[in-house]
Amino acid sequence: MPSTAHRVETYDTTLRDGAQQVGLQFTVADKLRVTRLLDDLGVDVVEGGWPGSNPKDAEYFARARDLPWRHATLSAFGATRRPGRGVDDDPNLRALLDSGAPIVALVGKAWTLHVTEALRTSLEENLAMVAESVAHVAAAGRRVAFDAEHFFDGYAADSAYALAAAEAAAAAGADTVVLCDTNGGSLPTAVARVVREVAAALPAGIRVGVHFHDDSACAVANSLVAVEAGASHVQGAANGYGERCGNADLFAIVAGLELKQGLKLLPQDRLAALTATAHAIAELANLPPDHRQPYVGGAAFATKAGLHASAIARRADAYSHVDPARVGNQARVLVSELAGRSNVLAKAGELGLDLVTDPELGTRVLDRVKELEHEGYAFEVADASFDLLVRREAGALRSPFDLEGYRVVVERRVEDGDGTDLSEATVRLRVDGERVLAVGEGVGPVHALDQALRRALADRHPELEAVRLVDYKVRILDGRAGTRAVTRVLVTSADGEDEWTTVGVSDDIVTASWEALADGVLYGLLRVRQPAVVP
Ligand SMILES: [Zn+2]
Repeated sequence: MPSTAHRVETYDTTLRDGAQQVGLQFTVADKLRVTRLLDDLGVDVVEGGWPGSNPKDAEYFARARDLPWRHATLSAFGATRRPGRGVDDDPNLRALLDSGAPIVALVGKAWTLHVTEALRTSLEENLAMVAESVAHVAAAGRRVAFDAEHFFDGYAADSAYALAAAEAAAAAGADTVVLCDTNGGSLPTAVARVVREVAAALPAGIRVGVHFHDDSACAVANSLVAVEAGASHVQGAANGYGERCGNADLFAIVAGLELKQGLKLLPQDRLAALTATAHAIAELANLPPDHRQPYVGGAAFATKAGLHASAIARRADAYSHVDPARVGNQARVLVSELAGRSNVLAKAGELGLDLVTDPELGTRVLDRVKELEHEGYAFEVADASFDLLVRREAGALRSPFDLEGYRVVVERRVEDGDGTDLSEATVRLRVDGERVLAVGEGVGPVHALDQALRRALADRHPELEAVRLVDYKVRILDGRAGTRAVTRVLVTSADGEDEWTTVGVSDDIVTASWEALADGVLYGLLRVRQPAVVP
């Protein structure tokens, strides 16, 4: 049993390094939502991005300050000063300080090859860049973590120089030196030795951190052996997102250290939120959750029914390496995202809907969720759709409007080689018993439908003016040749106070979009009318 005095800090880099993954694109709103999920889970540090690199990250930092932080501390990432220049006029260092982040991760070179070939400067100048940049940020009252890039390759080539870079950062005021396996090729045996040597060489009180990529399929293993060898700061990304083969999967690291090494990384009882958090982030990333992902995947504790079924029921612990409930997952025969009575009851409880005292309603909701998930719905992120589903099943939803029908015309006009898109939608509703017809125009059919729906409701519900559509995500499910492809649409709406997400599923993208749009508007109206029941 490792010593518990060895408190390990969890540092999430989903929003910076993880976002380098091909096909992953977070909007600022997505980044803020991921931040809240990670903060709720209870990681220690959330690295929000690189404020000096693009205006999107700068905007994120400006808005992240106002989030209701509960556990985590925000970190900003950026490079040391440029060769031959001062720290005072360095725009990147300025952006880091302007971000307001209490922690700054400064990345610098630790491999001689990179100093002379990539940076094209002298070995001495690189050490000065590290020391002066760290001192500059520390003098501004920020906590500094020094990310020693390519550390393991650099240590293999010239251990004295790699160590000199780490020591320069520590001496200048960095309280954490992060050994980065930037190319991801290191193997656990070498990692354990290097971490042990560096931890012994650095002054007492300096945290040794690690950051691994999965190019040798060892990122999680390397993280675990590094902690055993003395690292007390471990970096990773949600679901192992990241460029090439990905970053170390922070969730597998946390589960491994908590369940197998007896360490405490998350606040009390938060490990059970791991699976829901992983799936919610996958939805925001618009990437299909990996069913085979350790601990949190839909198939991580799934066994094909048959021969073993009765034995599994008798002794579940004989067929799985940990109790799936510890990480919020479950043993299952049929793979489903939310299925399971306890999950549904807990989700309803989160929304202030009590299904515990009405077991019959609970059963109906559970059956409905299973049925809908089978059709392609996903409720991890679509809280508002789940809320509406429970109210519908309870017979407690009187919708302020009913759809009679809609029609959309999609038009593309080409003049002198330039094309413009204009769609027109006609929506027919029944509002408080009366028939209402409205026309809307927009760029594309979904925008036009949204406009028409709002116009149809504008007279009776002026409060809708405050409700905006802030995000729209489409995913094609199961599009293999020969099978029926289904479209899932997630719509996020906001009213300046809060935001909520709804889901629609259909063979047809417009039908799926309408369903998500209409539920988003309906939920917005219910919020205004019954604010007490919505969190
Ligand atoms: Zn990296």
